[in-house]
Amino acid sequence: MIDRKYDVVVIGGGIIGLATSMKLTRDFPNLKVAVLEKEKEVAQHQTGHNSGVIHAGIYYAPGSQKANFCSTGGKLLRDFCDEKGIAYDMCGKLIVATDESEVPQLEELFKRGTENGAEGLRMVDQEEIKEIEPYSAGVKAILSPNTGIIDYFEVSQAYATSMRENGGDLLTDVEVVSIENRDGLVYINTTTGTIVAKYVLNCAGLHADTVAKMMGVDIGVKIVPFRGEYFSIIPEKEHMVKGLIYPVPDPSMPFLGVHFTRRINGSVEAGPNAVLAFAREGYKKTDINLRDTIGTFSYGGFWKMSAKYWKVGVSEQYRSLVKGVFVKSLQKLMPEITGDDLGDPGAGVRAQVIDSNGGLLQDFAIEASPNAIHVLSAPSPGATSSITISEYIVDLAQESFELSAA
Ligand SMILES: Cc1cc2nc3c(=O)[nH]c(=O)nc-3n(C[C@H](O)[C@H](O)[C@H](O)COP(=O)(O)OP(=O)(O)OC[C@H]3O[C@@H](n4cnc5c(N)ncnc54)[C@H](O)[C@@H]3O)c2cc1C
Repeated sequence: MIDRKYDVVVIGGGIIGLATSMKLTRDFPNLKVAVLEKEKEVAQHQTGHNSGVIHAGIYYAPGSQKANFCSTGGKLLRDFCDEKGIAYDMCGKLIVATDESEVPQLEELFKRGTENGAEGLRMVDQEEIKEIEPYSAGVKAILSPNTGIIDYFEVSQAYATSMRENGGDLLTDVEVVSIENRDGLVYINTTTGTIVAKYVLNCAGLHADTVAKMMGVDIGVKIVPFRGEYFSIIPEKEHMVKGLIYPVPDPSMPFLGVHFTRRINGSVEAGPNAVLAFAREGYKKTDINLRDTIGTFSYGGFWKMSAKYWKVGVSEQYRSLVKGVFVKSLQKLMPEITGDDLGDPGAGVRAQVIDSNGGLLQDFAIEASPNAIHVLSAPSPGATSSITISEYIVDLAQESFELSAA
């Protein structure tokens, strides 16, 4: 039975789906738009489990979509938050070289950040590091004053409210289970019946490859879930971290290395690592989803990736299992931190796209098919850049679907 008809259905009520539907309903008030979200509330997966950082755009390869999206993304996000009264704090960030061997890579990063247009970057010496972050060790650091913290769940809720005010529908607790293309329309079969649309925007995050497959699109890549585990710092030791303290990352990996993050609610987190998850929504070590696990292990690209990065993989798994090793990584950045200072553990799961050659996709991947756009990869800084990404997707939709505002 056909329950509802829409011009555009957005699958996924994470920050990307919500930002995009907000923009679409504002620019095309004539279109009937719905967001389908399988959870009871929006932003329950990558968006609601992320680090809450407004990135300044330092790390990304110049010319990449990450760099391009982030260069305007943070400013547009802050403008939106100013308008809606959403709190954020531009607390600044230090990227710290803990010994001389890391300084050349730090200097490369400085050049890259400057090229990307990250504002106000400055190299600071040991003395100034101590003034900014008294408990941090380091010989040299990049200070990024244009990095901040925010609650992306709150931002997502505000995007959803705006989208509804523009006339869009948010249908929660509605899971898409299969999709059929028939007679130029898309029949979306959900747990609450069939919904018909002219066009689909696939913003399903950790499940974006599955949704693309449901539409018969051969994307040639696979999403493999990686859990990022962290610990909260106990309240008595939160004063040891004023803002954000990051290590110099390995440029060949899409992960930034364990760091200290102050949250907008005042708490502090240490982490995350990056370990293979056995479920796409596996927030605990013991979470196993057979279908997801078989999917990962039966994918040739996963084994090619494992052959390339097995050493990193083994050491990340070891650090995940042995708390002392995790603490040791943190002590590189902050020698006085101890295992007793670490409180409750937590985790997020990131959708890592792996290609058939075992390559780890670092950038965004947003692809159009005849009646759909698929956001196949939306890594960090996806939340910071959500408004810029929404503009990109809506432009692409206008072009691909020949949408008209009349
Ligand atoms: C650990 C971690 C830390 C990060 N930290 C930062 C940060 O500090 N700053 C930053 O800018 N970015 C950060 N990111 C990146 C950022 O969080 C992501 O880019 C962003 O959340 C992606 O949003 P999304 O909407 O694509 O995905 P999601 O938030 O995962 O949303 C996808 C939604 O689709 C729904 N869905 C899936 N399948 C179906 C289906 N079949 N039917 C209906 N609904 C479905 C899901 O329930 C989910 O709500 C981080 C990411 C991770 C994982």
